[in-house]
Order: sequence, then structure tokens, then C-alpha cells
Amino acid sequence: MNKLSANSWEHRDMDNVFHGFTDLGTLKSNGPVVLTHGEGIHVFDVHGKSYMDANSGLWNNVAGFNHQGLIDTICTQARRFPGYHAFFGRIADTTVALSEKLVEVSPFAEGKVYYTNSGSEANDTMVKMLWMLHRRNGQPQRRKIITRLNAYHGVTAVSASMTGKAYNAEFGLPLPGFLHADCPHYWRFGLEGESELEFSQRLARNLEELIIKEGPDTIAGMFAEPVMGAGGVIPPSEGYFEAIRPILRKYDIPFIADEVICGFGRTGEMWGSGKYNMEPDAIIASKCITAGYFPMGAIILGKDLSDELARVSEQAEEFPHGFTAGGNPLGSAIALKALEVLEEEGLLENVNRVSPRFMERLHKLGEHKYAGEARGVGLMGAVELVADKSTKEALPGDLQISERIANKALEKGLICRPLGAAIVLGPPFIVTTEQIDEMFDILEETMSDVFADVGL
Ligand code: PMP
Repeated sequence: MNKLSANSWEHRDMDNVFHGFTDLGTLKSNGPVVLTHGEGIHVFDVHGKSYMDANSGLWNNVAGFNHQGLIDTICTQARRFPGYHAFFGRIADTTVALSEKLVEVSPFAEGKVYYTNSGSEANDTMVKMLWMLHRRNGQPQRRKIITRLNAYHGVTAVSASMTGKAYNAEFGLPLPGFLHADCPHYWRFGLEGESELEFSQRLARNLEELIIKEGPDTIAGMFAEPVMGAGGVIPPSEGYFEAIRPILRKYDIPFIADEVICGFGRTGEMWGSGKYNMEPDAIIASKCITAGYFPMGAIILGKDLSDELARVSEQAEEFPHGFTAGGNPLGSAIALKALEVLEEEGLLENVNRVSPRFMERLHKLGEHKYAGEARGVGLMGAVELVADKSTKEALPGDLQISERIANKALEKGLICRPLGAAIVLGPPFIVTTEQIDEMFDILEETMSDVFADVGL
């Protein structure tokens, strides 16, 4: 970094950009990676170095970084109608068409869509909708929100409060009334002698106890990711959603699936909530909705919830909430095209075609001496590193093993993500079997190098 001239892109970044979710020590010593463009599943930095992005950007660039159809759509829509809002009953035709399509591909026979610019805003908005619903329904005390430990629902004050623990300490969050139920990670939290199904049933009992202790009529809703993403790629334990769903029904608690990562094919099915029998009342979507080519978040309300909102709002004037760029026609055109690409260019089929190889190589990585668990589904996976496979004891934190591996992999031209003690992978849906092999070959070699470097 220091060898670079003062007017290098790296120095210009350091002088002018305040990075979030970035280790500032590493940034200072290694400098940023400043990118110019992408091609397929690779991105290129200002020095021409190529990186295979095994995280699809942030899970979202599923059609690769230069999809011509998406780029053409952007140009065409920009010429036709590049920007408008969705306030005061006005809306772009393209946004209406997208809403129709989203309801069509959703698990709901009928429903309604509300637009935001991000996943955090969509979760935040959903909480406000629930608060308004209960208030208008004569239950203003119904405000508590249940999520799970290790969940990730975003970073706005409300969605960060929903996010389990990790990112809150610096901000004096969570806000009051945000409750965290157990994390359904059997490998980590299952008890000695407890079967996976028994574990799920215990978590369901704990959830019911939490609801009773807090008072069922104080709970506004529960949110859950089908597979926990930023918590370290944690698919639910066997029978988990089947066990908790009846409890939420029993206490009439709306259940929201946060499909920001899983939605649009990541698990091999269109919706993770379908794969895991969540039967949600609404879906939070973002990321792949525009294949990463435009900021967009959406709430897809199922019929019951949208009818209920309409019923309680009959006397009221409006939902006093909205984002200037929510439902923007440019984003809507891109989302429509992204759905077409997913369906007609066989992206979803490709996820299922290459997933067995992805999982096979992931599990092979899991045989590494310091790999505690290799887990995943579809095209999302993680390998969690431990000091001892049998006790699952963590490696010393100051080793920063996952960060070291990710940094070393970056040198070798592979982008992967350290999350706690895990290395997380989520390649674009266009990835080939050969590229999956290349990705894991680099990772295996990197892990050997790094463990040798730290003397393990
Ligand atoms: N929910 C989930 C499940 C997510 O993974 C994320 C982002 N990684 C969010 C919400 C927040 O989305 P955004 O970063 O677009 O605000």
C-alpha cells in the first residue's frame, strides 16, 4: 500500500472514503481493493488483477457482473422513464408490472407489494406496518418483535435491533421490545444425546415460554431468515419451522420470512421459506431482486395480512411512510428483467445443477483438521473453523484465522468472506462446475498455507 503513489486510487480512497463493515487496521496496512469492472463471476481491480468473487458481491450479483440483457434493460428504461416515485397514488407502469410479477412468483395466491431501497428498510418498514396494524386494531401494546440470536436483518436502528447481538454494542442497541429467541444451530447448540428433532422441539417450547412470559398480546410479530446468512450460513435444524409455526398461529403472531439472501433461488428453490415450510404471512425481499444492479427492497404481503391491513385502515387516511426512490421505474425494469433471466436463462436450474458439486467440495473442506462443521444448501455454504473438532472449542480469537484465510485468498485472486470463525461462500448462480473446483482448490491451498503460517 505504502509503495503506491500518493495519487493512486488506493490513497484517494483512504483520504476520502469512510468504510463500513471494514477492519480499519487491515485497511490501513493492506489498503482497499478498488475495482473497475466485472466479467462473469470475476471482478477486476485498478491494476488489472482479476478476482473470482465467491460471494456474488454481497450475495446479490447472481447473474454475474456484466450481464448484457440487464445492461440493455437499464439503457432502454433510462431512455423511456428513468425515475419517479410511488407516493400520492402515482406510480410508473413498470412498477405495477413488477408488482404483478412478484405476487405471481411469490408463495401467495394474492398479495400486495411495498417498495424500499434496501433489505434493512424493508424490515424496518414491515415492523412499522405491524405496529400500525395492531394499533388500528385496538391493540397498541402489541409492539414487541421476536427474532433469533445470530439473525441478521439489517442496520437501521430498528432492523439492527432485530439483528441478533453482534452489531449492536457500539450503538446502545437493541431498542427496547426486540426479543431474541434461540438460534436453530444444532451442531453448536444441541445438547449431548439430544436428537436434531428433539433440539428443534426444545427451541419451539422455549419460544412458547418466551411468548407466554412476555404476554402474547404484546408481541407484534416474528421475523426469521430461512437460512441464517450473516450469522454464518445456518440452515434450520430438522423440523424447526414445522415446530414453531403452530405456536405462532396459536397466539396469532404474524410470521415474516426475511428472504433478503434466500429469495430468488439461493437455496435451489425460488423461496427459502418454501424449502423449509415456513408458511410466512409476508416476505422481505432485496439483493437478488435486481441481480445486484440497482438498490431495491420489497415487502410482499400475503393476502391475509394485506386484507387485514386494508380492513383496519378503512377509516384511516394512509400509511404515513415511504422512500423517495421506492418503486423507482428504473429499478422496477431491472427487477423484471432479473426475474426473466432467472426463469428463462436457466439460472435457477444451474443452481441445482452445480449445487451437488458445491456441497461435495464444501464437505471435503469440512474434513480439514481444523474444520468443525461444513454446512450449506443450494449455493450457500460455510466452513466453521475450530481448535478441536470433538469439543468444538474455538481457535484463539487473536489468530483471526478466518480473516487471515480471506486475506490470503484475496492475494490468490479469490474473494471469500470471513464471518466469525467461518469462511462463507455464495457464488453467482451462473457459476460452472469447473469454477467451483477452482474456487475450492484455491481455498484448500490457502487454508494449508495459513495454518502452516500460524504454526498449526
Ligand atoms: N436481511 C438479511 C437476511 C440480510 O442478509 C441483509 C443484508 N445482508 C439485510 C436484511 C439487510 O439488507 P441491506 O444491506 O440491503 O439493508
